[in-house]
Amino acid sequence: MESIEFLGTGGTRTPSQGTTCLRVSDHCVIDAGNLINTFGDDIFTIEHIFLTHSHLDHIIDIPFLADLFVTQKSISLKIYGLKATLDDLRQFIFNHRVWPNFEEITLIGHTDKTIELIELDLEVPYAIDDITLTPFKTNHTEGSCGYIIEQNSSALLFTADTYKCDRIWELLNERPNIHTLITEVSFPSSFAKLAYDSKHLTPSLLAEELQKCKRDDFTLCVMHLKALFMGTIIEELNTLQLLRNGGKVLIDGDRINYT
Ligand SMILES: [Zn+2]
Ligand SMILES: [Zn+2]
Repeated sequence: MESIEFLGTGGTRTPSQGTTCLRVSDHCVIDAGNLINTFGDDIFTIEHIFLTHSHLDHIIDIPFLADLFVTQKSISLKIYGLKATLDDLRQFIFNHRVWPNFEEITLIGHTDKTIELIELDLEVPYAIDDITLTPFKTNHTEGSCGYIIEQNSSALLFTADTYKCDRIWELLNERPNIHTLITEVSFPSSFAKLAYDSKHLTPSLLAEELQKCKRDDFTLCVMHLKALFMGTIIEELNTLQLLRNGGKVLIDGDRINYT
């Protein structure tokens, strides 16, 4: 694929907006906030899901995907994440209470299990289709990570949900081939306490964080806005002039080219 497709960009589910979900290659997505409603009949082409963390808005379609795949697929759906994220899926979702344990249930007519959970190592590149994904630690949950998404020599950095996090800015400073930063702003700046408690960014926190960055040549896009505060957040982003170099507030269906 020549571009990343943003299937879900909301910080909340609304009738017109899904939650975090990026199609990064033919068979691979990052997060599963909005797969079922966007893929249609192509849903069975999904083979790899790389998770940023286990919050519900990022994993919500995985149980339904497993339910579809068990009778239709011949190889396991591979789900990647840091250890704490995979532990959460096992303990709280696929536990035979909230949902069947599809890690143990075999695909009908085949030997593979329905899902396979694969633990990621931080800062190691994973090659899938024609791209590589490199997870790095973020400051959101115990198992949270963002990804450097790379095709040929050109890269984008996707933080997913995070609070202040030095590693993001170190990576941007270290790697001039990152041409686009996609980060989050969930709340207006007046919600600083809620942002800290829930480990999210606001426009003024993002402005503070940008002080750590030695570059000004990358495009900055944001997503994960809480729908109730969309107007206020966008006003603040504009006042602080944060959406630099053609950046924007992403909406469902947007695409960003790899090069
Ligand atoms: Zn989260
Ligand atoms: Zn989220």
